[in-house]
Amino acid sequence: MSCPDPNLVELKPMEKPDIEAYKRRLEAERKLLLAEIAQNEKPVDLGTDTEDPDEETDKSEEMGNQLAVAQDLKYRLDEIDVALSKIQTGKYGTCESCGKPIEKNVLDVDPESRLCKNCKLRA
Ligand SMILES: [Zn+2]
Repeated sequence: MSCPDPNLVELKPMEKPDIEAYKRRLEAERKLLLAEIAQNEKPVDLGTDTEDPDEETDKSEEMGNQLAVAQDLKYRLDEIDVALSKIQTGKYGTCESCGKPIEKNVLDVDPESRLCKNCKLRA
């Protein structure tokens, strides 16, 4: 006996066109992030030629900033990848904490959001 999966019938937090729009936004953002990461990862001269100690200090500071930026970019890339894989599995737009649909205005601001408004406030 084959009855339709109730989850498939009920779990329709969003109309399809919306998901497509978020998907396009996520993919565009992903591309930008990849470009930024590539830009950011251009090798900084690590100061192998140490003729000027002052300059070397500047460079290591620059490296530190660059690492922080790179970590942030990669974190955002991960979030986007998670959101995109959820679109593929049909779980996009569902709160990871309470399982309710994520509000549209939350996704409009933050398409890779994992949480609904309430859970975001509690987090
Ligand atoms: Zn929630």
